[in-house]
Amino acid sequence: MYIKLTSFFKNYKYFLLYSALTPVICMALIYTVRKYPRIGQLYASYIFPIFPNTLGRLFSPLPFSVMEIGLYTISFFIIIALLIILLSIFHKKARKKLLLYVPRMVITTLCFCSTIFLMITLSCSINYSRDGIAKDINIVPGMASHDNLVDLCLLLINDITSLDSGSTEIKAINTASLQNDTKQAMMTLGKKYPSLKGYYPNPKPVIMSSWMSDIDLTGLFSPYTIEANYNNDVVDYIKPYTICHELAHLRGYICEDDAGFIAYLACSHANSRQMRYSGTMNALSFVLNALQEDSSPEEFQQILNQIPEKALIDLEKNQDYWQGHEGTISRISEAANDTYLKANAQAGGTKSYGRMVDLLLAYYGLNSQSV
Ligand SMILES: [Zn+2]
Repeated sequence: MYIKLTSFFKNYKYFLLYSALTPVICMALIYTVRKYPRIGQLYASYIFPIFPNTLGRLFSPLPFSVMEIGLYTISFFIIIALLIILLSIFHKKARKKLLLYVPRMVITTLCFCSTIFLMITLSCSINYSRDGIAKDINIVPGMASHDNLVDLCLLLINDITSLDSGSTEIKAINTASLQNDTKQAMMTLGKKYPSLKGYYPNPKPVIMSSWMSDIDLTGLFSPYTIEANYNNDVVDYIKPYTICHELAHLRGYICEDDAGFIAYLACSHANSRQMRYSGTMNALSFVLNALQEDSSPEEFQQILNQIPEKALIDLEKNQDYWQGHEGTISRISEAANDTYLKANAQAGGTKSYGRMVDLLLAYYGLNSQSV
């Protein structure tokens, strides 16, 4: 046994060294950027872009999500391997043969886990220490009043009303335009805000999108393949906003609210009405959620009454969609259905309404710290 263990360490010393040292180095990197956020900011600005420029460019031309196909392939091999192990246990000859492969299986698993941890560290964890989008575009989120929140809600409803009042109906964007328009929207925003400038790979629709809905996901940034994956099964107005959100992660903005706010900015600066509609509708969902908890049922209903009919139908479609996927939580359905918090309506004072809403309030100069 001792000899076998010694030869295992000798034969696989470099692999063992890699799988043992990688997590230690990752933890040291995460600790360093948490302690010195300036290093995190430098990393996000100068080192992280290497990944979208290499891996992102490599996988971008493929019409499918490499992460999705990779996930199915790995799952398939794991199932096959487990079956072989299970069957081998009951046959003496096969069991002996299997034992010969155990060291290789152990080392492959260890190296695989370390590589996954390394990729997550380099593509996600370190970027949590970078400056947020607020600092990068010079806005200061802070406390806001109930009236500020109502004003923001009415402003977004007004934007939707103007978009809806055009001569042509706002129709769904086809897949090719959706991918081009979202990339274009992010590139246009990059011209205004330098931290968003750079290469954007093609967004990828997930084949088993309906499975994503079952786990309440509209999009997924893959830190292993640097891809922006999106759920193609959801209601149309959700898609452009979701793709821009995932593309924002690809520029190193890993915090959800930062990515959401960037997605709103990208959509609202876009030429296409569908894009602007998507951004505003999704932003409105966040604001309605905050407002519902901060207003009386009558006041909330009065504001809901001002939403144009098409938008209400879309909000309902979205609500129905998520209700069809049991166990999922729809942001809109929460806003429309939950009423118990209304009893605690607050009219006065200033407070935070959640990071995404705070960013929107600051952007429109609707908080106490705005000039
Ligand atoms: Zn996200």
